[in-house]
Amino acid sequence: MMHRLDGGCHCGAIALELSLPRPPEEEVIGACQCSFCRKHNARTVSDPKAQARLILRQPSQLQRYRFGLGASEVVLCHRCGVYIAMLMTEGGKAWTTINIDVLDGRARFTRSAEPRDFGGEVLEERHERRKARWTPTELVGWPEESG
Ligand SMILES: [Zn+2]
Repeated sequence: MMHRLDGGCHCGAIALELSLPRPPEEEVIGACQCSFCRKHNARTVSDPKAQARLILRQPSQLQRYRFGLGASEVVLCHRCGVYIAMLMTEGGKAWTTINIDVLDGRARFTRSAEPRDFGGEVLEERHERRKARWTPTELVGWPEESG
């Protein structure tokens, strides 16, 4: 049984559906120590057995930001400023790690966040780890070059 959670940005331009293989109470959550997540004090969830749909209701509001190795991009809402997820795309596939505070069920993630610091990785290692650990994601209504 999958556990479905909905969410998205504040203004509704970007919506998110996440189906987890276990209840949110049992999901491991991460406190990513990258320089971007630290500034947001973000707690994130990713599970390779989960499935996510990232739905762009208003494509003009998609804001992307890359930094560091540029292996992935931050997905933000241009209008309301909410940080939704980190996204990696490769070969027509996409993976995300999601900011749990954009989910309506955020309060159900009760495990304490585990600090994660991957600053020592090279680009190749980073791609492989993300494909193994991030959540496979369907991009709905996105510009062609993302798919
Ligand atoms: Zn918004």
